[in-house]
Amino acid sequence: MAELTYREPDPKVIAGAKGDWEMVIGLEVHAQVTSKSKLFSGASTAFGAEPNTNVSLVDAAMPGMLPVVNEFCVEQAVRSGLGLKAAINRYSRFDRKNYFYPDLPQGYQISQLYHPIVGEGEVLVDLGPGLARKVRIERIHLEQDAGKSIHDLDPALSFVDLNRTGVALMEIVSRPDIRGPEEAAEYVRKLRQILRYLGTCDGNMQEGSLRADVNVSVRPAGSTDLGTRCEIKNMNSMRFIVQAIEFEARRQIAILEDGGRIEQETRLYDPARGETRSMRSKEEAHDYRYFPDPDLLPLELDQAWIDAIAAGLPELPDARKARFVLDYGMTEYDAGVLTAEVASADYFEAVARGRDGKAAANWVINELFGRLNREGHGIEASPIGPGQLGGLLDLIASGEISGKIAKDVFEILWTEGGEPAAIVAARGLRQVTDSGAIEAAVAEVVAANPEKAAQALAKPALAGWFVGQVMKATGGKANPQAVQAAVRRKLGVE
Ligand code: ADP
Ligand code: MG
Repeated sequence: MAELTYREPDPKVIAGAKGDWEMVIGLEVHAQVTSKSKLFSGASTAFGAEPNTNVSLVDAAMPGMLPVVNEFCVEQAVRSGLGLKAAINRYSRFDRKNYFYPDLPQGYQISQLYHPIVGEGEVLVDLGPGLARKVRIERIHLEQDAGKSIHDLDPALSFVDLNRTGVALMEIVSRPDIRGPEEAAEYVRKLRQILRYLGTCDGNMQEGSLRADVNVSVRPAGSTDLGTRCEIKNMNSMRFIVQAIEFEARRQIAILEDGGRIEQETRLYDPARGETRSMRSKEEAHDYRYFPDPDLLPLELDQAWIDAIAAGLPELPDARKARFVLDYGMTEYDAGVLTAEVASADYFEAVARGRDGKAAANWVINELFGRLNREGHGIEASPIGPGQLGGLLDLIASGEISGKIAKDVFEILWTEGGEPAAIVAARGLRQVTDSGAIEAAVAEVVAANPEKAAQALAKPALAGWFVGQVMKATGGKANPQAVQAAVRRKLGVE
């Protein structure tokens, strides 16, 4: 498997009033398992359904109902763990986390405190060419999502929507290895990318499929001790994660420099005001009176079943990116752009197979992605397929069309579709390489501009002007190198 080598960057330093500080950050990411049904019931997980239509008797916690674990969700947690190079715990168990809230009809959340399904793993966070930070994963556990309380529909009433109640979440807990706000956002981006490659979470942050609790503490620069942390709950945008951490670190530094102490607490970020504020003091595990759920047997996984899942994993982002750099000779940056999504990496490889990798990367990134971005489309909606773009590259490689004409053909493919070779033939776009025709065109332009031709001997840069005129006269179809050579010969310029 291909691998690139990286260096770890220094921690980001913030200058306080009295000295330099650094941030220590650890994230708990809640990733919704891509599954049609819930963790312990057969109810649908479809997003955007009418309130309270995807609720089974189990989700509504009717007396006597029993949960039945969804094997598919267990498999997705194992897949995710394997994708994060983590240890899979063959024995795991569900615990009840007891608390009251109107959107939690059971009166407890089924989670895995004592024996999570996945143990230690790691994520390589890309921080620029040659730079990456290894962030250790502490654990992944499976748990149920809660429902949703709605307070803004009526001035006097609150409503509860239980559609989300019981949906399977993977809580992915990192070690406090992250050292700056942008790193935290990059960590979430990388985690999301890996889960999307694995197909275990769709990563849709607007729909709440991926949310992060961000733990932040500060310490004097160079210190190896951990400061007291605050947890910022439920962040669902990379931009807000960066803003919230910036604010929170500065708030803590101001308190500490003032001789104060940080209270460990749970805070919320208010994007409108750009600040975090206290939600509740930090609760401890014993506050929730956790105990093993008597309705569920422990999960005992066969090693052969785990091995089969491991054997079916796709090529993951780090490996694919390294392979692109090594096999196609592209920059790490370009490889990162192309491998951001499985669909774009697949598209690129379909174009590049059997062709010049650098040219393919250049056309896919600059022309195709550039155009898709401007029009707000994803690669799935590209009007030009990889076969068409590959055909266009073949015409350039064989010298049948110039790069300039290729852009015109690209435009025709984008708006009208068709096959590149057929378009070139039908519209007479073939490059003129015939030296007789090119020399005739050069002679014509030189004859029409005798003064400029005379000046060119003393001012060789003028040759470029003649090349431009000949290209114009031939409708851009003349081979530019051939025109250049013919012009220089005709003008007697070296
Ligand atoms: P709890 O069980 O109370 O939520 P954990 O020890 O499981 O606490 O840690 C939760 C998260 O907080 C983890 O992601 C961890 O990396 C992070 N974390 C722990 N200590 C610190 C610290 N001093 N500063 C920043 N983050 C921290
Ligand atoms: Mg926690």
